[in-house]
Amino acid sequence: MAVRESYKTTGFVLRTLSYGESDLIVTFYSHDFGKLKGIAKGAKRSKKRFANVFEPFSLTNIIFTRKSRDMLAFIESCDIIDHYHAIRQDMEKTLIASYFIDLTDHFSPEGKKNEKVFQLLRDFLLMLGKEKASDATVRFFEMRLLKLTGFEPALEHCIVCKTPVTNGNSYYFHAGEGGIKCSACAQPQRYEQPISAGTVRTLLLGKDMDIEKIKLIALTDSLAAESRSILIGFIAHVLGREVKSLKVMEQVRKLCT
Ligand SMILES: [Zn+2]
Repeated sequence: MAVRESYKTTGFVLRTLSYGESDLIVTFYSHDFGKLKGIAKGAKRSKKRFANVFEPFSLTNIIFTRKSRDMLAFIESCDIIDHYHAIRQDMEKTLIASYFIDLTDHFSPEGKKNEKVFQLLRDFLLMLGKEKASDATVRFFEMRLLKLTGFEPALEHCIVCKTPVTNGNSYYFHAGEGGIKCSACAQPQRYEQPISAGTVRTLLLGKDMDIEKIKLIALTDSLAAESRSILIGFIAHVLGREVKSLKVMEQVRKLCT
């Protein structure tokens, strides 16, 4: 019989699934193992053993055992490092954090370690707890996650003629080809969406800028709307589906404005 090896890591709760009467299947984004799925026996009953740790986006210390990499982990213990109280007290921030988590889940294959994705979540949740939520925060998270998971859209130059982006010129974004085309190369009547040089520059800036400076960025309404439409369309194209938490976020926003 294979012996269960014991491991220790830290991880964000991505989601939970009720299993039977008292167990939970928990999916984490962990520092050392990437996306990790495990069963927490008795989690629905034992408040003592797992004291409210399995809420989405909580950061936890996890001790688990498993027989092999492709088997469900058995969660021995799990305790809170950060519950992100400041985020949970604010509806808008909670929705954004849930979206970050959902997106990370969609873009991460199980068992593939990516410390930079873990750090991205950690940085952005920390920022979300401290600073005002903004469109820039959400778009810049999307840009960075796309980059770290190998889906970065090509925005530096036209993907056909390679001419670098220049102010004043008009561009078109092609989700299927994952990049922008200049007006000479685009066939806008086909699957291409207009994008201004300003939006292109904003998204490029957000991809790498110092996280401390993001709070200083306020997008104009038109930049915010265009960036949103381009990135959301692209993400839906890459995933082949819409992200549910994004829809929820928008519905709540509509109700609240
Ligand atoms: Zn071109």
